[in-house]
Amino acid sequence: MSISVPTDDEGYVLLKCEHCGNFFKGTPDDLQDDGVLHVFCPSCGLISDSYITDDVLELAIKMATNYANDIIYDAFKNLERHNRMNSMIKFKVEKKPHHETEDPIRSGIEALEICTFPCCKRTAKIKSLLKMTGAYCPFCGVKNYEVE
Ligand SMILES: [Zn+2]
Ligand SMILES: [Zn+2]
Repeated sequence: MSISVPTDDEGYVLLKCEHCGNFFKGTPDDLQDDGVLHVFCPSCGLISDSYITDDVLELAIKMATNYANDIIYDAFKNLERHNRMNSMIKFKVEKKPHHETEDPIRSGIEALEICTFPCCKRTAKIKSLLKMTGAYCPFCGVKNYEVE
């Protein structure tokens, strides 16, 4: 059985460094590219054996579930609105779906910003702080002091 890790709205998957616990994101295209032999943590520059830790996977699934629930809720809400005209069918959506708690790391993840590493011309989402202090390119490990 394979579990596909859900991507965010912009197509990035969440990764977590097993050395420093830093979160960052990359696109599956870049991460699975044959030209990329190792993935480096943009914060500490080390290579982790696995970036998809259990809590990342769990959180990613919760985020995807919450997102899907919202879509379904909105769709039913629409249906309900249309049904007001038609009294034959009573259709009521009670309340917003209960959201699985995504905390505590969610807020940190939301703050990640897309930047382009000039050395590899690939993008990753990293903490804005790292953009200022310089970040290791996740794809070649070179420290970039200016990332846009
Ligand atoms: Zn790290
Ligand atoms: Zn690079």
